[in-house]
Amino acid sequence: MDLLCTGGTLVTQDAQRTILRGDLLVRGDRIAGLGAEVRPQGPCRVLDAREKVVIPGLIQTHLHLCQTLFRGLADDLSLLDWLRRRIWPLEGAHDAESLRASARLGIAELLLGGTTAIQDMGTVHHTDSIFEALEESGMRAVAGKAMMDRQDELPRGLRESAAGGSAATEASLRESVRLCQRWNGAAQGRLGYAFAPRFALSCTEGLLAETAKEARRLGARVHTHAAENRDEVALVRAETGSDNIEYLHRVGLSGSDVGLAHCIWLSPAEESLLAETGTHVLHCPSSNLKLGSGIARIPELLARGVSVSLGADGAPCNNDLDMFGEMRLAALLQKPRLGPEILPAKEVLDLATRGGARALGLEEEVGTLEVGKRADFAVLDLDAAHVLPGGDVYSQIVYAAHSGDVTDVVVGGEWLVQSRKLVRCDAGEIRAEARAELQKLLARC
Ligand SMILES: [Zn+2]
Repeated sequence: MDLLCTGGTLVTQDAQRTILRGDLLVRGDRIAGLGAEVRPQGPCRVLDAREKVVIPGLIQTHLHLCQTLFRGLADDLSLLDWLRRRIWPLEGAHDAESLRASARLGIAELLLGGTTAIQDMGTVHHTDSIFEALEESGMRAVAGKAMMDRQDELPRGLRESAAGGSAATEASLRESVRLCQRWNGAAQGRLGYAFAPRFALSCTEGLLAETAKEARRLGARVHTHAAENRDEVALVRAETGSDNIEYLHRVGLSGSDVGLAHCIWLSPAEESLLAETGTHVLHCPSSNLKLGSGIARIPELLARGVSVSLGADGAPCNNDLDMFGEMRLAALLQKPRLGPEILPAKEVLDLATRGGARALGLEEEVGTLEVGKRADFAVLDLDAAHVLPGGDVYSQIVYAAHSGDVTDVVVGGEWLVQSRKLVRCDAGEIRAEARAELQKLLARC
């Protein structure tokens, strides 16, 4: 049955950035009509969007659903301490059930806040739990297991295999390939796979090089972290003789199928390299501030033609997964340095929609409201004291709205959030399960 979203202000994000008043018709999983002259075939379901704003579903290109359970458990630390003292021991204590609960909690927050597609980096083990949670949720996602074959310092639960050395490298690749073969293209193409070496320091050069080859052989993407922190960059330089992005490029990890989270500490040569290779920068402004990592030179990267998108990173370094917060901060962060004119609201919404779609290789499918694209969109009720009384709609969305203003969410034509409630799952059950699984996980630490 068709779904008709009626009477909304449609912020289409098409090439002309058209804003329409009228209806949006969904047939199957795609947008079948937009504007005034839209006619459903036979009886249809109606989503009343009068006095509301309809935007393409927001796309977060860097998340760790495995860390949602750790919200509030790793505050006020710098990256390497945050990882070694808190996050790795906690991740190492996950079992399949706690990981599933963590993913479900994160997905609930994301969907209720208007995020319809994500790129996720899992932990080392139990990655099927994340994909199963994504599959049942209806959300669109590219995800993958974290790969880390330099495992001597890691807790046992984060080791790729009991034996280290080449056994760990082989185990990491074997499990990644198995997951890719099971999940890449699953759920009628709603799920995809990204090989996810954690970062340069946690992987051998051999693993990184083999990952590049295997991902391309299997038509999957690659998702990693790079140049997030000055200590990290110094260690990479000491170990490899190269700057972080140059090193990744040398081992084959650059290109339009590669997304690099953060990219804060870059040389001019590395900025050029990102532009020339079409490698995607996944910008996480809240995480970069909270871990004290630094401020990515996003306007300069955009001026060079680098592809930039946004993400909340993990709950313990943010501490929420609200894309509206990321949009607002992405804009504000640059203004003291470069002036208030830089990165206006309209450009930031591009990063959260069109930019996200491009970073996932889905620009032909999602990221805009256009006939023929997948029906992924969010409806916002901006009739609220913190948004009113007027102004430009881009300003309202980026500077004033927040996740609580999202009333309805549709992904692939399926109405997943209806009047601020999850349709496919019970949010109360998800919260209860998360609390219970956290207690069991802490007992295992
Ligand atoms: Zn991250």
